[in-house]
Amino acid sequence: MCGLRTDSILLSLDIRQIREKMILMGKTVHITRKKKSRKGNNQIRCPYCGAVARYQSADGIYRDNSRNVMLYVCPNYPECDSYVRVHEGTKIPVGSMANRELRGLRKEAHDYFNKLYLNGYMSKDEAYRWLADIICTTDMANAHIGNMSDYYCRLVIEKSKDFINARKQAGSDKPYQDGMKRRCFDVIGGGLDETERKRKAVS
Ligand SMILES: [Zn+2]
Repeated sequence: MCGLRTDSILLSLDIRQIREKMILMGKTVHITRKKKSRKGNNQIRCPYCGAVARYQSADGIYRDNSRNVMLYVCPNYPECDSYVRVHEGTKIPVGSMANRELRGLRKEAHDYFNKLYLNGYMSKDEAYRWLADIICTTDMANAHIGNMSDYYCRLVIEKSKDFINARKQAGSDKPYQDGMKRRCFDVIGGGLDETERKRKAVS
C-alpha cells in the first residue's frame, strides 16, 4: 500500500510463515522474541555458584574496613566465599570475583610481580610487557593479575621468582643464559633498567 516494508515487518512475516508451516507439519510451535533485560548486561555473576553478585560494603567481610571499601559479593557468602572489590569511587570491579584461595594467589602474584619494578629490575611499563609475554598475550588489557586464574597466578609467581633469582645470581650487568630469560631479555630491552642501559651505552 504505502510501499514501506521495514525489516521488522519482514521478520514478523518470516516468523508467521515458519509457524504456519510447522503447524501444517503437526508440530507445536513456540517462537518467542528475546526480551531486552532492563538491567542490561551489567550483572556480575559468581563464577563458582552462578548467583548474581550483590554490591555492598566490605563491612563484616574485611576485618578493617576503615577505608569504606565496596565489594561485589556472592549472595551465598560466606558458604560461597567469593567477592571482588571495586575501584575506589566507582562501581567497576578491579578484576573477577575470586574465592579465598584465588584471592591469596593473586595477592602473592602481585607481591612478586611488583618486586620486578619496585626493586629496579625494570620500569613498570616494562614489567607489564614482561607480564603480557609470560601469559602469551599481545593485548596489554589482558595482562592483569586481578583477572587471572589459579594457573596463571602460579605461573607469574614462578616466573617472577626465576627472574629475581637469575638477576641476583648473574649480577646486574650480565645477560641471561636460558631461553626464557633470553626472551625476557629481548622483550624488556636487555633486562636492564633505564639507568643501567644508559650506563652500558656510555661504557
Ligand atoms: Zn557464589
